[in-house]
Amino acid sequence: MATSEKNLRTCNQGHKYYKSSDCPTCPTCEQERKPENGFLSLLSAPARRALENNGITSLQELAKYSEKEILQFHGMGPASLPKLKSAMNENGLSFCNEK
Ligand SMILES: [Zn+2]
Repeated sequence: MATSEKNLRTCNQGHKYYKSSDCPTCPTCEQERKPENGFLSLLSAPARRALENNGITSLQELAKYSEKEILQFHGMGPASLPKLKSAMNENGLSFCNEK
């Protein structure tokens, strides 16, 4: 039986992976955990630029605005709103519509 430096591990999501170090990070989980600004890739180019031009590169930034304000950005269309909303919901955020 060959000795291997790597150990088979299973993360709490059930992913199997080999790690030689003690680092418990699961590569599959790492890959699935998108960066918070991943929502920008859901948008059309004009909508994405509209947010970036206003300094919004994260969902946390986006949550500081209301839907109305977002729609006023040049390039932002109503079709982008559902995408933004669901991305925010997934992260426990929502538009600040009470302003
Ligand atoms: Zn995992």
